[in-house]
Amino acid sequence: MGAPSQMRIAIVGGGLVGALAACYLGRRGYRVDVYERRPDPRVQDAERGRSINLALSERGLDALRRIDLVDTVMAPALPMHGRMIHDASGNMEFQSYSASGDRAINSIGRGALNETLLTAAEETPGVTLHFGVRTTAYGLPTNSLALQRGDDFEVITPDIVIASDGFGSVVRQSLEEAGRISVTTEPETTGYKELTIPARDGEFALDPDALHIWPRGASMMIALPNPDRSFTCTLFWPGEDFAALRTPEQILEHFSRVYPDAVPLMPTLVDDFQHNPVGPLATLHVDPWQADGKVALIGDSAHAILPFFGQGANCGFEDVVELDRCLDQSGDDWGIALPLYQQRRQPNGEAIAFLAKENFIEMRDKVASPTFRAMKRLEHALERALPGVYSSRYEMVSFTTIPYAEVIERDRRQRGTVLAAAVGVGAAALGTTLGLLTRASRRGR
Ligand SMILES: Cc1cc2nc3c(=O)[nH]c(=O)nc-3n(C[C@H](O)[C@H](O)[C@H](O)COP(=O)(O)OP(=O)(O)OC[C@H]3O[C@@H](n4cnc5c(N)ncnc54)[C@H](O)[C@@H]3O)c2cc1C
Repeated sequence: MGAPSQMRIAIVGGGLVGALAACYLGRRGYRVDVYERRPDPRVQDAERGRSINLALSERGLDALRRIDLVDTVMAPALPMHGRMIHDASGNMEFQSYSASGDRAINSIGRGALNETLLTAAEETPGVTLHFGVRTTAYGLPTNSLALQRGDDFEVITPDIVIASDGFGSVVRQSLEEAGRISVTTEPETTGYKELTIPARDGEFALDPDALHIWPRGASMMIALPNPDRSFTCTLFWPGEDFAALRTPEQILEHFSRVYPDAVPLMPTLVDDFQHNPVGPLATLHVDPWQADGKVALIGDSAHAILPFFGQGANCGFEDVVELDRCLDQSGDDWGIALPLYQQRRQPNGEAIAFLAKENFIEMRDKVASPTFRAMKRLEHALERALPGVYSSRYEMVSFTTIPYAEVIERDRRQRGTVLAAAVGVGAAALGTTLGLLTRASRRGR
């Protein structure tokens, strides 16, 4: 293959990850075409109930920092320094995300983030965005993409195809049908629906410095702040439960019983509940993420995960950084870079899928329990006592770029020791624990 400037790269999907990949590859000197099936979101509003705000954390920020986009992207973002737990009686408790209390994840609208990234991609020399162009099939060995724009059809054969076409990826389906990759989908019975807490008298109706959680076992509602002082709430609940609430009376009765403190803040609850769609959730396992050094899956097309660690987009942005690193290390030889990308990234995709599932259980069932709160206090005490030696799982996932697979390993080692500390009594036991942890961490490095 030739020099970057002579190579054509087609990116399928101009969502968050495709737009960021276009920025990175354009900067490397490639000629990049992004094919997005939707109209340009900068000139057309998002669908109702699909606004989703994201928690952007260190992995995503790192990817943006590397190409000087972090300040632009973060301008409208709102920091959230901890979780605010709302119990069934309406009481609230704040749990800081970090031991120091100064680390925050950032609430940002997915639409706004996508638009900023599309503009950045468009401003990158060599990048062209094509909206309203649907990819209908991908084919090896010619590396062909069948494109449809209205009634027009076209087949192109770029040098490289980057498939960032999300959970329903057509490129992934074509590769699976050709027997080049294996795909397992784990559907989740829980779906999600967006609801709203609008601004009250021009101000936030809840503390905007927190991600609000109403953990209720079978269901869970969360709320993240928006720059217009509203909150976007997401209710996670099994699909058949959503369907069972039909009339305004049923909806109000259920919410008043389960989320009593939220109902007075949600004047459009009934309308939102009746008209906003229920989104499906699933985990994807794909192997491998590339074929023949010519086509790569990236973002949700490779690793759609449950949203409960707030990592889907963060992980997709990290894919882009890793792909860029593999191109650096291979001298832009895609035949070397893509297998390397697969080897380094896929185990981490599996790891975050696992962590996201576990965090669902933690958020839904455990955050309100006294044992969980005691464990969190102990974790934070250990983090303060052993900076750089002990880091909680949450800390490692959200505030570092330690590979996800390594997070699981480190966390496993640490948890055993923390559990020992939890059952131990007095300073002597804790002292021994700190010693053990220091030694375990030295062994692990
Ligand atoms: C409820 C919920 C909450 C979430 N919260 C967080 C969070 O807090 N933090 C976080 O990091 N992540 C979160 N996520 C995950 C995050 O939204 C996704 O990981 C992220 O959007 C993936 O980006 P992507 O570009 O890979 O895919 P997508 O965002 O799905 O983009 C794919 C793009 O491809 C286009 N496309 C699809 N098919 C075709 C085709 N055939 N031809 C052309 N174009 C096509 C689509 O129109 C779209 O623009 C959440 C997800 C959900 C559902």
